[in-house]
Amino acid sequence: MQAATTRICLALTEKSLAEDLALIEGNRRHIDLVELRADFLDPGELARVASFPARAGLPVILTIRRRSEGGHFVGSESERIALLEGAIGGGWAFVDLEEDLLAPALDAAAERSGVRVIRSFHDYSGVPQGLVARTRRLARNPSELPKAAVMPRSTRDLLALLGACSELAGLEKIILGMGEWGFPTRILSGRLGSYLTYCTAGKVQAAPGHVDPLALDELYRVRSLTAATRLFCVIGNPVMHSRSPLIHNSGYRAAGLDACYLPIQIDDPALFLPVADRLGVEGASVTIPHKESIIPLLAERDPFVDRIGSCNTMVRLALAPGDARAAPFARGAARARWRGENTDASGFLAPLLAAVGGGKAAERRGGEGHPPRSPLAGLRALVIGAGGASRAVVAALVEAGCAVAILNRTLDRAQRLAAEFGCCAEPLSSAGVERAASAVGAGAAGHPASLPFDLIVQTTSAGMRPHEDEDPLPFYEFRGGEIVYELVYAPRETVLLARAAHAGCRTIGGFEMLLAQAYLQFKLFTGVEFPEDAKRRLAG
Ligand code: NAP
Repeated sequence: MQAATTRICLALTEKSLAEDLALIEGNRRHIDLVELRADFLDPGELARVASFPARAGLPVILTIRRRSEGGHFVGSESERIALLEGAIGGGWAFVDLEEDLLAPALDAAAERSGVRVIRSFHDYSGVPQGLVARTRRLARNPSELPKAAVMPRSTRDLLALLGACSELAGLEKIILGMGEWGFPTRILSGRLGSYLTYCTAGKVQAAPGHVDPLALDELYRVRSLTAATRLFCVIGNPVMHSRSPLIHNSGYRAAGLDACYLPIQIDDPALFLPVADRLGVEGASVTIPHKESIIPLLAERDPFVDRIGSCNTMVRLALAPGDARAAPFARGAARARWRGENTDASGFLAPLLAAVGGGKAAERRGGEGHPPRSPLAGLRALVIGAGGASRAVVAALVEAGCAVAILNRTLDRAQRLAAEFGCCAEPLSSAGVERAASAVGAGAAGHPASLPFDLIVQTTSAGMRPHEDEDPLPFYEFRGGEIVYELVYAPRETVLLARAAHAGCRTIGGFEMLLAQAYLQFKLFTGVEFPEDAKRRLAG
């Protein structure tokens, strides 16, 4: 196994040295070195920075960043150089000096004091043309460590940056992409050949896209990622809020798998394929807005993907031994091929079947020679919403033999979905609920007249953070006999779910579905079951 090479560098951005030292203490376990961003300090603190390395107890980078490169230093350039020169003898491991800073006396002082120069440039406007050549030219002598920090603004930019990392493979350097689009370069810094990755723990981020040291070290375990670590991801736009990295990475840890799962923000799904090839990604969860647009890019599809027109899981097809595409960062290699699956429907059904219970399941089991009947068969279901999630829900319920009615704010969207799956569609209103109830057979033989639906599934984004106050069904009074299933998982309990629980209904929250579909993806990605102990911790 290849040795771990990624170092975690905590950028210190507090106003006082005492607060910066407290940040080090709070995070010491998770970091390898720190960068004192002296440009964030109160002016009165600057005179005392020379004593900082001795108090930090870790290698320290000294940086006084000027405004033009995203820093906070407001003085003149000669004042900045004087401050750096005054501090340089204090036992720093590195000093970060910009590419265009011409201060021979400062360079000489750094050399005399045994302080290694990081020769840097920052581009907040994008990924510049000629990044490779510029990075190669940065170091003024062999002891300097070049640093390129750029700001990808699209998947195409990320791809250009990954290409540059590949071309610079033999060079010792720091290279990173800032912001959401550059996030993979912060996590996979070691694999991409960067000497370190930066993070922030204070109140102010030192640069866009920083995460905290705990997340880098324990969630993504960047210090132990190697070329052999298997990589998985979630793609979407936006995607940084996703809970999936927490779920999947907990599973790898519990199962003892050398694997890492990270969010990759993708605007053009077609460009995800070369990104995945470059990084060596083996499997991807797919979320909004790519669940449909990814389908034409798949080499193989589970029939259910075609039936519901939505793919939430991509698995890289196995490669023959020795196939160049198996190697991450393989340049010019042929594209990997992908199989599409959908775990939303099965993930939706799993908690529902558990709620319906084995007793009913046993009652409904088919007789000799007959296929088993779903325990959900015959249930009268009301589905609120007609978007992507609703498609998977409606398909699963119809397949299980439920009578389904769909209510949606935009009626024609509900009508199109209903026509596809042979159910009824109504507007999201009190009258719509009444007509939906008679369509699914309320009051018919075997069903109590007082209970219009056995199951109500809420699939709209109403009630989702930051719209926690919304209840998409305020005109419906729960009777207490319904099973109420809410797909929204942030917050864990929505207004609608709380109202249903108060009326005595059995309730299922969206987090349960999120977990269930992730467990199925985990199996598709890794070939092993999600460990039970990790399941218990996540559900708790
Ligand atoms: P989508 O395709 O954009 O559909 C959104 C649906 O919500 C549409 O039916 C839309 O109605 C409706 N809607 C939005 N705001 C509304 C409001 N204020 N009042 C009434 N209806 C409203 O989104 P999606 O992919 O289906 O996702 C929907 C929700 O399900 C999200 O909260 C998502 O997080 C959640 N989800 C959860 C899981 C899980 O594992 N728990 C999985 C997938 C999705 P119109 O057609 O009238 O616009």
